Amino acid sequence: MAIFSPSYFVSSVLEITPEILKKNNIKSIFIDIDDTLTAHGSPSIDKKITDWINLITSSGIKIILVSNNFKKRVQKFADKVSLPFVYFSCKPLPIGFFWALRKTGTQKREAVILGDQLFTDVLGANLYGIRSILVEPRSKSKTLTLKIKRLIEKPIRKRLLKTNFYDSEKVRN
Ligand SMILES: [Mg+2]
Repeated sequence: MAIFSPSYFVSSVLEITPEILKKNNIKSIFIDIDDTLTAHGSPSIDKKITDWINLITSSGIKIILVSNNFKKRVQKFADKVSLPFVYFSCKPLPIGFFWALRKTGTQKREAVILGDQLFTDVLGANLYGIRSILVEPRSKSKTLTLKIKRLIEKPIRKRLLKTNFYDSEKVRN
């Protein structure tokens, strides 16, 4: 099941520091929105998250939002945090990540994909050959599809926890 294995696993994006990213030669992060930076579909954003975004970007690391959601949703959120974005990215297909690489001007080996879903963010990263960071989802799933996805993800997440990702500062290749 290596195809569903992220390079790194955190409970919140706030655990990711510029130091960890730089140590792992990461120059750009492609970040999912729903359940990664805010609750699913929510227009609001925590101050802690905007502070974290500023911390990362001020360290020289580029951030681009890559979401499967529609333009209206993604653009509204991106404007709030003044970040570039790719909407309707069709994750796990590589098209959105391809545009993100173009827009950030970084190489695959210098990029990392950050998201809450194994079947879109992590699978997409592994299919395209980019490292990934899996985060715990920020809200309880409301839709049936999300509920089913989470149910299937459960044993895989459990196994990931056992591999001590939390102890490691190393983003595996
Ligand atoms: Mg998500």
